[in-house]
Amino acid sequence: MGTTAVGQRAIHPGRIEVITGPMFSGKSEELIRRLKRAQIAKRRVACFKPDLDVRYHRTAIASHSAQTLDAMTVTNMEELKAVLMPMIDLVEVVGVDEAQFFDPSLIGFSNELMHLGKRVIIAGLDTSFTGEPFAPMPELLAIADEVVKLSAVCMQCGAPAVHTQRLGSSQSLVLVGAAGVYEARCRACFSPWADEHGSEQMELPVSAGSGR
Ligand code: ADP
Ligand code: MG
Ligand code: ZN
Repeated sequence: MGTTAVGQRAIHPGRIEVITGPMFSGKSEELIRRLKRAQIAKRRVACFKPDLDVRYHRTAIASHSAQTLDAMTVTNMEELKAVLMPMIDLVEVVGVDEAQFFDPSLIGFSNELMHLGKRVIIAGLDTSFTGEPFAPMPELLAIADEVVKLSAVCMQCGAPAVHTQRLGSSQSLVLVGAAGVYEARCRACFSPWADEHGSEQMELPVSAGSGR
């Protein structure tokens, strides 16, 4: 096909896979599983995560169940591109964890990688602790070849959990943490504006993308 207006294209396009769901739903586990299988198939893998998320490892993605896979920590999309592009011919599979922390240029860049024939596997939260879509995930879900939406286990009642409940009173959209700061909750048990005791109502936060 050669070079087109949208840039370099491979004869065989790759694909975009998105793994999403609330915290503790197994997104990182599933990303690690897919990337490990790609490595077993002798595919060359490059995996990235934002440097906000250094909960467990700086040089690996990690699941809450302590599975890990080597990854490069980058500050933003600019750095991700600067690291990946010089070695792009050597890479066949690109993994991105915690994609909700990257800016919307991840959407166009994922498309470019797909047109270069790469398999792009993206894991990220579908909604924030307010229950609203967490950009840029909505558009990534829309352009993906395959979407896997996982549920966690509600920590209140054991039902399938689709929400991430923030415990305590911080109202910042980005507050990185794990158990103790966030909890998986089902729709019935989710109460985005209450504190951990479900009692006091708090002021609505101004979160990115909430124009309502
Ligand atoms: P995510 O990347 O979606 O936050 P991880 O892949 O890091 O999730 O972790 C998933 C693992 O977390 C599960 O396999 C399980 O061992 C553990 N876990 C802890 N709390 C929960 C919960 N409430 N629901 C499901 N799994 C949980
Ligand atoms: Mg994760
Ligand atoms: Zn519940």
